[in-house]
Amino acid sequence: MKTQDYFKLIEKKTKEVYAVAEEARKKGIDPADKVEIPLAKSLAEKVVGLISAVYPQMENSGITERILELEREHGKLDTFVAFKIAEEVAKQKFCKFASLLEAIEAGIRIGFAYSTLGVVSSPIEGFTKLEIRKTREGKDYLAAYFSGPIRSAGTTASCLSLMLIDYLREMFGYATYDPTKDEVKRCVTENHDYHERITNLQYMPTDEEITFLAEKIPIQIDGEPTEKLEVSNYKNLPRIATNYVRGGMCLIFSEGLSQKAAKGFRYLNRMKQKGLQSTGFDFIAEYLEIHEKRDKGKTEDSPTYINDMIAGRPIFGHPSRSGAFRFRYGRGRSNGFSGISIHPATMGITDSFIATGTQLKLERPTKGCIVTSCESIDGPIIKLNNGSVRKVKTAEEAKKLYPETQEIIYLGDALFPFSDVANRNARLIKPGYVEEIWKLDLREKISSMLGQNREKDSEFEKQIDSFNIRFEQAVEISSKYGIPLHPKYIFYWTEISKEEFLGLLLWLRNAKIEKKIILPYNKAEQEKYALGKRALELLGVEHEVIIEHVVINQDISKALLANIGVDWKILEEENSLKEAINPDKFDEEKTILEIINKNSAFKIKDKAGEFIGARMGRPEKAKLRKLIGSPNVLFPVGREGGRLRSFQAAVDTGSVTGDFPVYYCDSCKKETIYPSCENCNLQTRKMFYCYECKETSLRKCEQHEKSTTHYTRQIDINHYFESAREKIGFTNQEVPPLVKGVRGTSSAGHSVEHLSKGILRAVLDLQVNKDGTIRFDATEMPLVSFKPKEAGVSVNKLREIGYLHDIYGKELEDNEQIIELKPHDILLPSSPEAPESRADDIFIRIAHFVDEELARLYGLKPFYNLKKREDLVGQLGVCIAPHNCAGVVCRIVGFSNTLGLFASPYMHAAVRRDCLSFDNYVSVKRNGIWHIEKIGEFIENIKPRKKIDNFGTLMEKMQDTFTWSNPGKGEVKEITKHQPGHMIKIFLEDGRRIELTKNQL
Ligand SMILES: [Zn+2]
Ligand SMILES: [Zn+2]
Repeated sequence: MKTQDYFKLIEKKTKEVYAVAEEARKKGIDPADKVEIPLAKSLAEKVVGLISAVYPQMENSGITERILELEREHGKLDTFVAFKIAEEVAKQKFCKFASLLEAIEAGIRIGFAYSTLGVVSSPIEGFTKLEIRKTREGKDYLAAYFSGPIRSAGTTASCLSLMLIDYLREMFGYATYDPTKDEVKRCVTENHDYHERITNLQYMPTDEEITFLAEKIPIQIDGEPTEKLEVSNYKNLPRIATNYVRGGMCLIFSEGLSQKAAKGFRYLNRMKQKGLQSTGFDFIAEYLEIHEKRDKGKTEDSPTYINDMIAGRPIFGHPSRSGAFRFRYGRGRSNGFSGISIHPATMGITDSFIATGTQLKLERPTKGCIVTSCESIDGPIIKLNNGSVRKVKTAEEAKKLYPETQEIIYLGDALFPFSDVANRNARLIKPGYVEEIWKLDLREKISSMLGQNREKDSEFEKQIDSFNIRFEQAVEISSKYGIPLHPKYIFYWTEISKEEFLGLLLWLRNAKIEKKIILPYNKAEQEKYALGKRALELLGVEHEVIIEHVVINQDISKALLANIGVDWKILEEENSLKEAINPDKFDEEKTILEIINKNSAFKIKDKAGEFIGARMGRPEKAKLRKLIGSPNVLFPVGREGGRLRSFQAAVDTGSVTGDFPVYYCDSCKKETIYPSCENCNLQTRKMFYCYECKETSLRKCEQHEKSTTHYTRQIDINHYFESAREKIGFTNQEVPPLVKGVRGTSSAGHSVEHLSKGILRAVLDLQVNKDGTIRFDATEMPLVSFKPKEAGVSVNKLREIGYLHDIYGKELEDNEQIIELKPHDILLPSSPEAPESRADDIFIRIAHFVDEELARLYGLKPFYNLKKREDLVGQLGVCIAPHNCAGVVCRIVGFSNTLGLFASPYMHAAVRRDCLSFDNYVSVKRNGIWHIEKIGEFIENIKPRKKIDNFGTLMEKMQDTFTWSNPGKGEVKEITKHQPGHMIKIFLEDGRRIELTKNQL
């Protein structure tokens, strides 16, 4: 299926689901009679929507279409699109502006909004204005104003925004800024003041860095004062309007420019290669030298992963220590996007402490990742209790050998995509010599060859399976093409000492040969050859300890001899190595690897490369989300529900006291809590309650202002519970013995769910989330392609939902073929070892619940009609990050035997979002006025008082309050304050900082 058709299919199915939901909502049983979740727009529409709030003329001016066109040309999310659309808006190609300056400002905002995905307010409130000022020679230059909300843009995007401003500056012919000595010093002082006296910058540049940047920067970074603190020095400068600390300036200067210069510069250079004209930031090349010098001094600190250890979370490798994870570049089917792959046997040999989805804390090149598996990389090399050394090939073998394992000599590979390293701008790590690099060496050699055989040879190269090469074939290829010896037949020569090496030679000289090497190893010899034995272990040479001998199999014997420069044919011809090994040839003041290369007929590469340390982070998880008390329905049981919050307990009491909405049924002439009457099923009318008169009425009280649509009272719970049971046609026996509600509701109108839903959920053991959804939490894991067999789905079913071809374009007919996972498609975590209910079970129950609800409560046809697990395949769901307001439609296509949610990297990228801590700036409109303040201060001023959980979380309802969100202005309905003790601070690898509560992890 073509991608466009796929997207159309997803859209069509989404609309079908919406249509059913709309029909159900029209019955008037729910607080709102339509589906409240709007379908989102394209990025182009979001960007234009956000910015045209400031410049209304931009709406429908053709910018959206132009962005889409640029995206087709340069790729989605390419910074080139951001710079080009900014340029065209500034040139007033779509609409006119009051002045050129305003046009440039608008251009900057649209470009900035594009690079921040149109979801944060930074382009409007973080970048506040542009001013034209005079250089000392009287020429015009640009000063850009920044404010606190620049923070939500993320550091890379804010660094790029400076480059964008400068790009437009140069294009429109403005001079470069010519800072005075005092202005440079002011910049140094002000960043220090902000960092030390206001709040910690996540990156505090050195004085040398600030001075260099402040002297060279082609535009002036200015900003409104954000703090009540004056700078400690360099006040009253003519070209800086305020003496107060400018937070926005410090943030973009230190966290954006100083910290992210390398990454920003890389993007800029890539755009310049595409023809972008920009020279203002060329000096960054020189800055990076200063910046790196500083970083170098830092590498001696012990890595953070080892500093913040937690009890019960094992360490799998000390920093850079031999035997920790061997670094390997590459992309598997399930790594990338902060996911790395290790061999399944490595998981097994850690006693399954590492499983698919486990989070690891790493030494480098990034701080953390989750783990998936890959079979074609190297697994562990272990030493057994009897002294034998083995390479473990499978997870099953690893589990079997685990009790007999004395030492894990090498943990195995960590497969790391280059793109992750590049994205973090981390130093490149030296990988060991591996099959893929060997193959590239061969390819390069052949393509550089001239002559008749070249085509035949490159045909030969294509057919070679570099992961499956016999020793004879390996030496033949290396001899013929002069490339290094195949990685399967080389050893960890960099990991042994000179003494161990000489000990090994001594031992080999005393070995006997019976077509393979047999080393003497009786009790006395064990001591004598201890160094040699250790060398063999550390080299990763597999061997078996058999009564009084150590035996190396024939292939490995040959390889070992080839490495040390002895003709392996000796194995067939002689019975001793004494003559063949001359120790003098090895006794040199060089590294072992150099000595090996001097003696061997082949080039022997470094098998080890660099090792990276790691420890266990969070374990993987996959389970149904449950609110405190595990309610089945958002309907208060009050105190009467007792400890279990059960309706049965409340029914025994006969009443529930709580804040309920109030409606009036004209037909039954009585008040109810539902928008449709539980007695006659007719629509009811909203009533008002006046807290002064203490009366309900169909109109708002005219004497008093405090009319609400709900009030606290005692309701007859028997009546409501009985009518809920009757409504869905349940007998008393069919009602489950425990239906659980909430203590009270906290939503603005205190609306309740229909109680029938609670009975239906309780039957299926489903719990409700506070927004009425049912949620399943799982660790996010990337996947780009899969086999039908792995997903537990038949080929026929996959063909039915549009998977017709494998990744090679062949017709899909076998369950071993590899197929590309489409962007909205997910595999549900369905591990048989799951500690709680599996996702497949739960989603089947959810489908049953929806069907029951449609049929029994809404009087509609059931929608899903699922009979077996495979029927889930093709159904839609929503993926959403914790505390996020926007979800992404997903489609179930299969199941994995893990505790993680496998989805395309696109999906993971789409659901990411931040939460806010005290020091984050937000824009708030109250009483008709917009202002920007720290969210912490804003919330402190409101003084939330209402307790909503057992963790000290306080809540307050809000009225007439707005903020910027996706896709634009949004009303704030309630705020919550969490206890500082329960807040966890997270520094994201891309430089963002998040503070959030434990539950959101
Ligand atoms: Zn009625
Ligand atoms: Zn009144």
